[in-house]
Amino acid sequence: MSKNCGKRFINGVTNYEEYIDNRKENSIYLSKKAIVMQMLEKKERGEEITLVDQMMLVQCIQVSKLTGKLDGYYAISTSVMMNPICQERARKDGCICKECYAAACLNRYGSLCMALEINHLILNNFLISAEAWATLMIPSTNGKARIEAHGDTASATCAINYVRIIKTHSFLEFGVWTKNLNHYRVAFNKEGKPANCKFIYSSMEINAPSVVPADMVEYVDHVFTVYTKEYAIEHHIHINCGRYDGNLEMIDQKCRSCMRCYTAGTEFFINELLK
Ligand code: SF4
Repeated sequence: MSKNCGKRFINGVTNYEEYIDNRKENSIYLSKKAIVMQMLEKKERGEEITLVDQMMLVQCIQVSKLTGKLDGYYAISTSVMMNPICQERARKDGCICKECYAAACLNRYGSLCMALEINHLILNNFLISAEAWATLMIPSTNGKARIEAHGDTASATCAINYVRIIKTHSFLEFGVWTKNLNHYRVAFNKEGKPANCKFIYSSMEINAPSVVPADMVEYVDHVFTVYTKEYAIEHHIHINCGRYDGNLEMIDQKCRSCMRCYTAGTEFFINELLK
């Protein structure tokens, strides 16, 4: 399998067939996928997705162990390869999605690719009750968890499901990253914003913090923006995601020792250097 199809995705050409070939190799995920497809057919026939069905779907959700900057964290994510909004943005000049590391990462790890596809199908197609979500096991080494480490929320249904997951796991603090405020507008208006959630608006453009719409100001805890080194130096941007020396050379960048995004009262604007 080519190692650079993430790059091809970055250049606006998806390589979905390679992902399909990759997915066939994993029998565990094929079994889970069969359950999800069965439920989708049931839904299409207009039959009720019972609480037992919902619990089966919840058991098919994969909570991923993260590495690198997010070492020690676990996340529930969906697939950028199945998200038309992500794919459209990946073609836009100046959009941070053109630098998407998640697509490259998916291609390297076939099992993750499949797991996120299953998560994507469940979270976007079924409105699952809080009672069923309460049965989801979310490991945590530090009392924190992340929503969407590899993709973005593709629908209001997905956002409502995430809100229910967060509320039913009130013993954990969640960080939710998204560019898609519109889906959370629906979710928060319907379900309320959970108290154990830091909601981070991820800026669309490099070097330009997105403006929070007036009706979402009460929900957004941070605006997260990525800057090029040249722009940050020229415009004296304070890079506060990660530790840097005076020449903006990175010393380290670990969420678990930083916690800025998860802590109340820290800077509203979180600024990261483009890697
Ligand atoms: S500011 Fe800190 S907590 Fe937020 S993403 Fe960066 S390293 Fe992680």
